[in-house]
This record gives sequence, structure tokens and C-alpha cells, in this order.
Amino acid sequence: MTQFSRPAAPARRGLMFVMSSPSGAGKTTLSRRLMAEDDGITLSVSATTRPPRPGEVDGRDYYFVSPEQFQQLIADDQLLEWATVFGNRYGTPRGPVEAALQAGRDVLFDIDWQGTQQLQQTDAASDLVRVFILPPDLAELERRLHGRGTDSPDVISGRMSRARDEISHWGEYDYILVNDDADACLDEIFAILKAERLRRKRQLGLASFVRAMLGD
Ligand code: 5GP
Repeated sequence: MTQFSRPAAPARRGLMFVMSSPSGAGKTTLSRRLMAEDDGITLSVSATTRPPRPGEVDGRDYYFVSPEQFQQLIADDQLLEWATVFGNRYGTPRGPVEAALQAGRDVLFDIDWQGTQQLQQTDAASDLVRVFILPPDLAELERRLHGRGTDSPDVISGRMSRARDEISHWGEYDYILVNDDADACLDEIFAILKAERLRRKRQLGLASFVRAMLGD
């Protein structure tokens, strides 16, 4: 029988996995579970001018910064994208994302449609995988926002009207999931991630891998 040598497995380019949804669609829970169950993906921690909610930790949930500090990050070209949401500013620090991608790690972004559009307009567009998470219906969304107990009725009604706006951007995403069951939704997220990791364009050493396999 012919002896075949085994070529080294090809290296992979990291991907940028964006999850957007109206608030209350369960995205935070899904992204926490994804991070806990997959050690190949790193969460991009955003900078924001919004004050911390109870239980939120600086550097883990967000980098909580002043409006002046945020403006300085923009001036220093340290943000990949940024947007104003509910009157507060949010942005993605560039450095950690570039370091993770270069190391072949995937990065998870919990950003809104404005940020997703900006990433789509950069050189990074080919690394992007855009997932939009819909709630099963708007009544359920409102119930979840009340259940969270962290926001005032005024804030909740603002979030409901912004939810309609956010949902209207579903057509700008590659995958649309309806989160009526978190376990099923998470399975779908893993399926997307698994397939996207196998895309030919992300497998950097594929040509030399196949050449070595064929002995060329
Ligand atoms: P929250 O204040 O509820 O944590 O987030 C409000 C909204 O801001 C969410 O839709 C979230 O996805 C979005 N967001 C959080 N960080 C960023 C960011 O860095 N960039 C953009 N464009 N949106 C963000």
C-alpha cells in the first residue's frame, strides 16, 4: 500500500462574528453562553459613555469612559466603528480585535446595525459574519424588558421604539434567527460558526496543504 505523509493542518484566519438584535431579544445571554462554550472566540469589549448597570464590571462588560475620553479614542483612531444609541456613545476598540484576528482567533461583536454597517464598509468586510436575532414577537420583547427590572418605564418605551428601528435593518444581515428558545438558538449559532470557520477563504494554508498532500 502506498505510504502517504500527513501535511500540517492549514492555519485559519479569524472571523468577525457580529450579533445584533433589539434589546431584550436575549442576545446578552446567548453571547455569554457562546463565550463559555467555545474557547476559539473572544468577546470584543466596547467602550461606552453610558453609566454601568448594577452588576456590570468595567473591562468585562464595557469600558466605561467619559464623553471626553470617547472623543479622544476617535481622535486617536482607536475605534473600528462607533455609534450613538439611546443618547450614549458606543464604540469598538481596534487593537484587541486586530490582535485576535491575527492570532487566528474569532471575535464576537455585540453591536447595533450602525456599527455593523460601518464594519461592512471597511477592509474587514470579508471577515464579517452578520447574525441578527429577532424576538418571537414584540409583546415578548416588552415583557423581557420589564422583567429585566433595570430600566424605568420611560427607558423601556424608548427601547421599544428603537427596537422597531433596529428590526427594520434585518435585511442587512447574513443570518436571521428567531429566539423563542435559547437552547435552539444557541445550536443555530454554533452551526453558523462551524460552517463559517470552514469557508475556503478563511483557511489560509489550504493551497500548500493540498499541494503537500498531492506531493507536488
Ligand atoms: P446596552 O446599553 O443595552 O448594553 O446596549 C445598547 C445597544 O448598543 C445594543 O444594541 C448594543 O448591541 C449596542 N452596542 C454595544 N456596544 C456597541 C459598539 O461598540 N458599537 C455599536 N455600534 N453598538 C454597540
